[in-house]
This record gives sequence, C-alpha cells and structure tokens, in this order.
Amino acid sequence: MESKVDALVLRTANYGEADKMITLFSLQKGKISAAAKGVRKAKAKLAFAAQPFCFAEYVLASRGERNTVVSAAATDGFYALREDIGKFYAAACVTGLCDALLLDGIVNEELFLRAVSALREMCEGDEAAALIGFFLHALALSGYEVQLSACAGCGAVLEGRCWFDAADGCFYCADCARGAGVSAVTVRTLQGCAAGEAGPFPPEGKARAVKLLYAYLREKTCAAVKAVDEYLALLGAP
Ligand SMILES: [Zn+2]
Repeated sequence: MESKVDALVLRTANYGEADKMITLFSLQKGKISAAAKGVRKAKAKLAFAAQPFCFAEYVLASRGERNTVVSAAATDGFYALREDIGKFYAAACVTGLCDALLLDGIVNEELFLRAVSALREMCEGDEAAALIGFFLHALALSGYEVQLSACAGCGAVLEGRCWFDAADGCFYCADCARGAGVSAVTVRTLQGCAAGEAGPFPPEGKARAVKLLYAYLREKTCAAVKAVDEYLALLGAP
C-alpha cells in the first residue's frame, strides 16, 4: 500500500551497501521509520530526501510495519542550516527534541508545524532565540509548560533575578525564592523568546536559557539529547 506524508527527517542511519534508514516526523502519522534504498550511491536521485532537516512530501510503500521511500518532493531543504555550525547544531536540537519527545506513531500536528517554523526562523535569523522559543512550545505540548509570566507563589510579575523550581516548572520571585537562582538576563531572554520577540538577546542569556530548559527536560523525562549538549558546548555555556 502506498501513502503520502509531509515529513521532516529527524535522524538517519546507514545500513547495507548504499541504503539509509530514516526516522521521519510526519504531519499525518507522527514519528515513523522508512528505508531509503540506494541513497548513498553517487548521483542517487533521492539522496536529498535522506539528509537531516529535509522537509519533503514522501511517498511511502508500506508492508505491515515496514515503510520504504518510493519517491519524495522537497518542500524545503533548509540549506542555510548546513552552512553555519551554530545554525546546524541548533537545528539538530530541534530534531533531537522532537525525536526525544515523540512516541512512535502518535500524531502531533502542532509540534510538527512548530518544528518546521523554527527551522525556517533559524535559516534567516537568530538560531538560539528560535531554539528557545521552540523548546518552550515543545515542553508545553508535552505537558511540561514553563510558567514565565508570574511568580507561582504570590503572582507578582517576574522581573530581575528569579528562582526556578525544576520539579514543577515554576518561577518564583525574589521574595518567594524557591528552587535555584536564575539571573535576570536569563529570565528576560526566556520571556522574550517565548513571546517571539526579535531580540537581540545577550549571548549569555541565550546559553543559560537553553541550559535551564534542558535541565528541566531531563528532570521531567530523563531524555538525553546529544545535540543539546553539543550546542551548549558551542555556545560556551557556563
Ligand atoms: Zn512571589
């Protein structure tokens, strides 16, 4: 049986002489795997469809649980992500987070659209800000929303140095002070990225914001995302 899906490549692995197994995040079927045959041969027509971050319409032949890529038409290859190491790693964080948060075969249209638009934003603008915005949405869609607007203790507007309780995903004001201290620049960066503000945001704020969100994700899910560790190292995270 053949079916068509709009999908983003999350991960690829070589197998056989010239084949790849690709993990796709599809709009219609959620996370699925598919064999891409012959794509490692020189001049393979479908080579592009088995590259990280490829966003394409895939025609899949399915037999039981097994899918094979029959053809693919590129929607967006996000090529700018391959030409800049920072953008490349930030994009790998987006696909890595999707991979970690999605269960096989569970449809999540909103996360899919958020991932595609984050990659688009990364091509054109500040990749760290796009990643932080995406990270916050991905956490919220997985049931781990981070409350950034008001102190969870007294309801005061959050500004200046705050506290973050990673057990419940809540920020606290200086008077309520629960959890670990978070610098004012980190809080401000998280709030700005959540609101989709254009920035610019200070590098230190961005590095610390990614680090805080990743620590929170790990606290909640134990999911390790290698790309986030690599990106944090690249940012020189404290
Ligand atoms: Zn408070």
